[in-house]
Amino acid sequence: MNIYLLILTLMLSSCFGKKNFLSEIRSQIKINDTKNIISILSSDSLKGRDSKNKGYFKAADYVINYFKKNNINPLYNEYKDIFYSDSIKTYNIVGTIGEFLNKRKTILIGAHLDHIGINEIGPDSVYNGANDNASGCVSVLQIGSFLSQFKWDYNIVLALFAEEEKGLRGSYNLASRMKKESINLEYVINFEMIGKEMKIGTNKVYLTGYKTSNLAQEINIVVPGFVTFFPKSKEFNLFQRSDNYPFYKAFNIPSQTLSSFDFENYKYYHHFDDEVNNLNIENLNAIIVSSAFFISNFLNEKTKITLNAH
Ligand SMILES: [Zn+2]
Repeated sequence: MNIYLLILTLMLSSCFGKKNFLSEIRSQIKINDTKNIISILSSDSLKGRDSKNKGYFKAADYVINYFKKNNINPLYNEYKDIFYSDSIKTYNIVGTIGEFLNKRKTILIGAHLDHIGINEIGPDSVYNGANDNASGCVSVLQIGSFLSQFKWDYNIVLALFAEEEKGLRGSYNLASRMKKESINLEYVINFEMIGKEMKIGTNKVYLTGYKTSNLAQEINIVVPGFVTFFPKSKEFNLFQRSDNYPFYKAFNIPSQTLSSFDFENYKYYHHFDDEVNNLNIENLNAIIVSSAFFISNFLNEKTKITLNAH
């Protein structure tokens, strides 16, 4: 074949492939499933997903069953990464897609599953935590089940963290464990509060630690305009306030949180009205689709995500 024709054919086929991927993601990550999963994870019966009142463990059982049904394997000999928090035995849920090969490059996709439990006083005692952070969890589950259908050249770890609300305890535990095991971790993408559209528009998020790496720029190449710079993130030092941070500290790699909570778009933060009915599920699903697309693209193209010099 003529070399120019060959190049043209390759270019066309890769564009076509990309487009097809997006339409496949769109048809598979369905708004009804997103709504169903987030509704279960934030229902009153899970009592605000606290380990003290055992509600957390019900949520964890749901996630483990979801992993089993979707062909997502345990990273360790079970799905639980056990640790103690104020003398209570609790655990992160950690899955992996396909076979985990020790030396292979690894990415981690995470969100915290725990929330702040119940309040004895007040008309509605359950802190449902639909936005904080059932919205992040449903993203990890939906993206994980999509990715689990294919073979990748990377290890993909899915982590649902415990005890974030008590000071990132679950992610500190897993980060130091993975560090000790010399896991070849390349980057971490953490989801936190993406259930309500940002004031500036729909299907948009910000990244904490925007300038720490090229992640925002690389995402915007795949999904133009998806990631915005959010000045308050820096002002409030959000980079250090979610489960991305322990991995950054332990591995010195790009590790950032993706969020759409802009402090003005949602008045139910840590409030008992943080419920599904107050969220924008259509926008949440759009964010999940965009995220699944950029992640699969990164994996396909072996995109290098690296720390910026500082
Ligand atoms: Zn949170």
